[in-house]
Amino acid sequence: MDGETAEEQGSPAPPPVPGGRLEPKKYAVTDDYQLSKQVLGLGVNGKVLECFHRSTGQKCAMKLLYDSPKARQEVEHHWQASGGPHIVRILDVYENMHHGRRCLLIIMECMEGGELFRRIQERGRIQERGDQAFTEREAAGIMRDIGTAIQFLHSQNIAHRDVKPENLLYTSKEGDAVLKLTDFGFAKETTQNALRTPCYTPYYVAPEVLGPEKYDKSCDMWSLGVIMYILLCGFPPFYSNTGQAISPGMKRRIRLGQYGFPNPEWSEVSEDAKQLIRLLLKTDPTERLTITEFMNHPWINQLMVVPQTPLHTARVLQEDRDHWDEVKEEMTSALATMRVDYDQVKIKDLKTSNNRLLNKRRKKQAGGSSASQGCSNQ
Ligand code: ADP
Repeated sequence: MDGETAEEQGSPAPPPVPGGRLEPKKYAVTDDYQLSKQVLGLGVNGKVLECFHRSTGQKCAMKLLYDSPKARQEVEHHWQASGGPHIVRILDVYENMHHGRRCLLIIMECMEGGELFRRIQERGRIQERGDQAFTEREAAGIMRDIGTAIQFLHSQNIAHRDVKPENLLYTSKEGDAVLKLTDFGFAKETTQNALRTPCYTPYYVAPEVLGPEKYDKSCDMWSLGVIMYILLCGFPPFYSNTGQAISPGMKRRIRLGQYGFPNPEWSEVSEDAKQLIRLLLKTDPTERLTITEFMNHPWINQLMVVPQTPLHTARVLQEDRDHWDEVKEEMTSALATMRVDYDQVKIKDLKTSNNRLLNKRRKKQAGGSSASQGCSNQ
């Protein structure tokens, strides 16, 4: 980014159109953007810095990723989704050398409003001064916005697989701020790979080969359930008790669906909301609601009839603020465990499946070429 080996390509090209073919710019990002020292966030995969567009002055955020197949995937998926509703928009992508290493630089719109729950927690402070409480209808509005982002991704055959509080950011601190989803570091294409693999032609694709897409998407549905639960009460449905990011006990409770709706926080929350959470947190991922079913649920698509009941959320978030980092770590670990578990289930499904067509094809393959049965759609 210091432009060490920047190719001179004359005047900067216009910004790319999201959804189209991604062509990272090869000249120095610093030709177009003034980088500031301000770090907006530190993630597992990279640093996010504040920067300013040189000619327009627009404040932006730059995510730095060292080049790798995983980093390329992240950029590709985010690029494909960018421009979708409630998705953080990519403005530019650069490929530069930095300290002798190739890196990818994603320039995004700057989300100045910060994280979703931070904003609600602030309401807790204001509330102490007697201002209005966060209501069930507001929670439903937020869930609809997040659902809209997921619906768009799933319709594009992308599972995000890392929907969690720190990846939900507001555009600004103003009242009309828009909530958007970011960080495509674990996103995955859900169908194309199965069709692309040379092991199966579309005619022979068995349901269990195409089926695994629902596992990846069901991660996002589980996340919606957890976020909705926290929005309605201020604490998560599952926690670890041991100080570990994820304990055996917490894993067990997630697998067995052991959580409750304790009073007083849940006493005034509508039955519709509780029912929706139960459908999202179903332990069997194949039984969880799909995003279309979620968006069609009355609690989501009839906002005006959702009661305006004041919730305990803002107060609880404010009181438990010292534990919030643990809550975030626990959700991060739970999602990591789930991604691994589901990937294993899918491989098992494929190996043990007893589909007539698939068996016939396997026999044929065993007799013919060495095309392996284990050719999964990972
Ligand atoms: P990682 O994949 O490494 O976790 P993220 O993309 O989640 O990285 O970014 C890490 C943090 O940086 C976020 O939690 C957020 O606080 C901040 N951040 C990310 N993108 C933006 C943005 N567009 N505007 C402002 N802050 C951002």
